[in-house]
Amino acid sequence: MSQVTVTLPDGSSRNVPAGTPVRDVAAQISPGLARAALAAVVDGKLVDLSFGIDKDAAVRLVTDRSPEALPLFRHSTAHLLAAAVTSLFPGAQCGIGPATDEGFFYDFVVDRPFVPEDLERIEKKMKDLAAEDLPYERQMWPREKAKEFFTTRGEPLKVQLIEEKTAGQQDVSCYTIKDPQTFIDFCVGPHVPSTGKLKAFKVLSASNAYWKGDARNQPMQRIYGTAFLAEKDLKAYLTQIEEAKKRDHRKLGRELGLFTFHQWAPGAAFWLDKGTTLYNTLANYMRDVLFPAGYVEVKTPLIYNKALWETSGHWTHYRQNMFLIESADGDEMGVKAMNCPGHMLVFASDGRSYRDLPLRLHEQTPLHRNEASGVLSGLTRVRQFSQDDAHCFVTQEQIGDEVERLLGLVQKVYGDLGLPYEAKLSTRPPEFLGEIATWDSAEAQLKAALDKAGQRYTLNEGDGAFYGPKIDFDVTDAIGRKWQCATIQLDYQLPQRFGLKYNGADNTEHTPIVIHRAIFGSFERFIAILIEHYAGAFPLWLAPIQAIVLPISDRHLDYAGSVRGALQAAGLRADLDDRQEKIGYKIREAQLQKVPYMLVVGDRESAEHTVSVRTRTGGDQGGSSVSDFLAKAKDEIDKKVLGS
Ligand SMILES: [Zn+2]
Ligand SMILES: [Zn+2]
Repeated sequence: MSQVTVTLPDGSSRNVPAGTPVRDVAAQISPGLARAALAAVVDGKLVDLSFGIDKDAAVRLVTDRSPEALPLFRHSTAHLLAAAVTSLFPGAQCGIGPATDEGFFYDFVVDRPFVPEDLERIEKKMKDLAAEDLPYERQMWPREKAKEFFTTRGEPLKVQLIEEKTAGQQDVSCYTIKDPQTFIDFCVGPHVPSTGKLKAFKVLSASNAYWKGDARNQPMQRIYGTAFLAEKDLKAYLTQIEEAKKRDHRKLGRELGLFTFHQWAPGAAFWLDKGTTLYNTLANYMRDVLFPAGYVEVKTPLIYNKALWETSGHWTHYRQNMFLIESADGDEMGVKAMNCPGHMLVFASDGRSYRDLPLRLHEQTPLHRNEASGVLSGLTRVRQFSQDDAHCFVTQEQIGDEVERLLGLVQKVYGDLGLPYEAKLSTRPPEFLGEIATWDSAEAQLKAALDKAGQRYTLNEGDGAFYGPKIDFDVTDAIGRKWQCATIQLDYQLPQRFGLKYNGADNTEHTPIVIHRAIFGSFERFIAILIEHYAGAFPLWLAPIQAIVLPISDRHLDYAGSVRGALQAAGLRADLDDRQEKIGYKIREAQLQKVPYMLVVGDRESAEHTVSVRTRTGGDQGGSSVSDFLAKAKDEIDKKVLGS
């Protein structure tokens, strides 16, 4: 039998007979490794332990310490879920079951939606199947035979997948758990060697879904679950989602009276008075950050002739995401989904010289994206939103300096909000427009700017947009979730499409480069993140109501009214609870509303012209004159103190 050479990560190599399964290679290295092995990477490709090595190859064993292990676990657990579902619900048809960043899901065609009791039974069945430690086995089936098999079993979706994904192949890859009676699926794999490896998993929820996510296709039921390598990681995740439920911005938004939705305006928030205050506070804060940094604010039209979108390229690539309407003259018009093309017209509206650059245009007007109603969710997936958007028009030489300034702004804003963050630099993708030299120069300037700003970053090689490199920022919220918010995106193409020119120092015409940048991203989504990050207890400077005056009884109403008046006159957002309720009740209500300061006034306070200060966390701060309280509150607001 011919021999092949296996090269291991430490550089050592060994000869084995051709066709030797990776599992046996692991056993040769050590029995411990054989027990720990979950899969292998052979010449860069993730494979099962049963994979036969038929030519010289570099082999690395995947254990629970490898980065590949978690998605492998999750995808394998999705199969375990499907095995449980098909066992408990005969006739259930399987769709697809991928691993996700949060766990996994599997889609099924079933007679009725799953109810919570079903999910409990399914999880129990999965645990039973895991306890039996059944093998996952890869079987190569002749393509026609596989199609016939799944047709007979009443699984047309699998037949469709085989047809779409394996055109031209003789054989197709199927996996069983134990045997085809227990479970069989069409899948390229790989999976863990046996169900006994899967110990830390949980079935979480079920929802409506459609085949391939398209509402015109067959309705399905999606079951979500998650899996981890260790029980403690699963526990930590479940605690996090419990905490996330309590902080859910949709729930808090209603309880705190920030915003509401109506079915007649899907994906568009009704900002109530308190929510509008929060929104405007952030909008004005952003102006306070941007104006001193050399930005100017503009307001451009919401609706444009399709000619604009044809010029920008959105008509071809983005039209299905836009609201299209017809003007009274019969012209096709598109409601803007982004500000960039409008800002190109602003640049072009006047003669520009190199002395005008960088030109920084900020805009907060509403944008619309025509999302399917099924994917809309609270403030995080909406149809109408605004951004803290800006476009910086620069020369090639100004890129580094401008990006460095931007990094400073990002640092200031996230620092003020108490959000830790990370940066990612994405560079030239395989398919790109423009000259390599220009890209290299831009990327070098971005790297130099990141280094100069002392900003650590990870490099996503080849992950940039086709029109320029970018830097993305992920913030981490109070319960450890990451959200992508800020982006700095270089763009060489859009100014060219619009024929933008400026007169250079050399007195010839040049095309500017535009930097698309946002720090919050969309106000709507960012406010959702802030609500959940602070669990609704905003720092004083952001709180819609900063202080509430609580008279102990009706005879203190006049004095309470004068205190409130003094606070309002000093610029504080102050409320008054003049209801005939017990003071304990009023305090509890104000705490539930997460009002930072409660000012209790009774006989003594009225007589001494003081207030008794309480914080929302329950602490009695004692008596204070109104002016002392105001001075302290103003200081807390000016310093943007976090938490209280
Ligand atoms: Zn699979
Ligand atoms: Zn833009």
